[in-house]
Amino acid sequence: MRNLIAPFAFGLALAAANATASEAAPKSDKAADAVKAAAAAVPSIKPNLKLAAATPAVASPAAAASKSEDDAEVDLSVRIAEKLAELRAKQALRAEQAARARKVNEAKRRKEAEAAAAAAAIATAAAAKPKNGTHWTYEGEFGPENWSKINTAWASCNTGNRQSPIDLRDGLKVDLEQVTFDYHPSSFNEIDNGHTIQVNVAGGNFLTVGGTTYELQQFHFHRPGEERINGKGTEMVVHMVHKSYDGKLAVLAVLLERGIANPMIQTVWNNLPLEKLTTVTPSIVLDVNEILPARRDYFTYMGSLTEPPCTENVLWIVMKQPMTASPQQMALFSRLYPFNARPIQPSNGRMIKESQ
Ligand SMILES: [Zn+2]
Repeated sequence: MRNLIAPFAFGLALAAANATASEAAPKSDKAADAVKAAAAAVPSIKPNLKLAAATPAVASPAAAASKSEDDAEVDLSVRIAEKLAELRAKQALRAEQAARARKVNEAKRRKEAEAAAAAAAIATAAAAKPKNGTHWTYEGEFGPENWSKINTAWASCNTGNRQSPIDLRDGLKVDLEQVTFDYHPSSFNEIDNGHTIQVNVAGGNFLTVGGTTYELQQFHFHRPGEERINGKGTEMVVHMVHKSYDGKLAVLAVLLERGIANPMIQTVWNNLPLEKLTTVTPSIVLDVNEILPARRDYFTYMGSLTEPPCTENVLWIVMKQPMTASPQQMALFSRLYPFNARPIQPSNGRMIKESQ
């Protein structure tokens, strides 16, 4: 009779063991518990089976039959034991695999943490190292917002508080002294420096204001005009950069609007270099007086260069009366430099004076 019970118990044990086999090794005690539970459940089932066995059809077991039942039960016990051992071995293997996976994961995490720490150290070192980039633009990654990050020497571009250009408004209207110009037809050379067309003028052209004389070094163009007057800008501007004998800078800005052609601008356009960063030295002279407006009223304030290195302590003189360039002259420059203007900078309460 017990050979009917045994497969049932075996099945229970197997089911219990299988149910836990898929779980991780540390829970393997559960499998053993399940087997015990299955075994415990067997006696309670036995009486019913015995009752069922009390029918005449199976009521006369021979001694030999009983012996064979015992043997079968032993066989079954052995098979159960073998199966359980096999399951435990599988569970042990899984536990080992899980432990190995944990170790691999830990090692991976440790390596990642080390790599992150190394990258952070490199970034810190890079931040501390002086930067000496020279490439800058008016837009994008190398644009005005990032100029100070490109080169350590350009810090003022983003940290200075006396930067140019500014919107000229709320100026103090006073009787400003006349700026004295001592300009002459001069030899010159031209370069397309990748940011603008720049004209380097031979020595001997002077501007005097506030008791200081500054000599014209070069002039160049921006489109649109960088300066604004009460929020209003112009299509272009000429910046004439002067330097005193003791190294102080003064920039004269002449705003350009559409109108009649300007002869000095035409001379510059006529002699444009064919290649960028190549200097052309024409064998003619250029008269800088031709860019000066008839009226000499101006705005003045202390600012900076409007391109890297954004050096401060620059005296700005912005002529109130714009000059004109023809639409064709404007169009020609816009083909070379459609946009080369720095955004308006905060005036930070700087004093602006203007001719009344
Ligand atoms: Zn400029």
